Amino acid sequence: MNETTARQQIIEVARSIFDRGLSHGRTGNISLRVGDRLLVTPTGSSLGTVTAEQLSVLDADGRHVEGQKPSKEAFLHTAVLRARPQDSAVVHTHSFHAAAVSCLADVDEEDVLPPLTAYYAMRVGHLPLLPYHAPGDDRLGPLAEERARTRHAMLLRNHGPVVAAKDLASAMDVLEELEETARLHLLLHGRATSPLTPAQADALRAS
Ligand code: ZN
Repeated sequence: MNETTARQQIIEVARSIFDRGLSHGRTGNISLRVGDRLLVTPTGSSLGTVTAEQLSVLDADGRHVEGQKPSKEAFLHTAVLRARPQDSAVVHTHSFHAAAVSCLADVDEEDVLPPLTAYYAMRVGHLPLLPYHAPGDDRLGPLAEERARTRHAMLLRNHGPVVAAKDLASAMDVLEELEETARLHLLLHGRATSPLTPAQADALRAS
């Protein structure tokens, strides 16, 4: 993929996320690796209005080399992609239901959501919860990198999801499934549920 196409893809996904209410205000950021360069949405930008020309470019060492100043959460993207050479795309949002789940007490921090549906097991698999750090606190970087070695989706405590995939379309599949299952989980609160059994879920999980 050339960089022009990559820029277009980021903007298409940004609009899709914003238009469907998966991010609000200036929250959420997207990155896509092209060769040894990483395109990432800039700091202070809204996914509803950011343009292809405004995207930041980081080099292989995460240094800002071109375009506007990168999101202050760009270090999360570089950390996750360092751990996942097989992936090229990272999407992070503050999507409503996933953010709500990130604020729940007494959850399994190794796997926050139950495998309520087959598509959740297939696309998300497991969802570890990373401890709270203030936005932009780069101590979260090493924690995200460590988790990303074995997990392509994670939830930041009191914040929102981070997902990685081979391309942006696949990352969106993961993010959407995560958000829908978070919504189901909240909707079913207080009711007896019958998630997939461990064997049923494991048969579908990619990781
Ligand atoms: Zn964030």
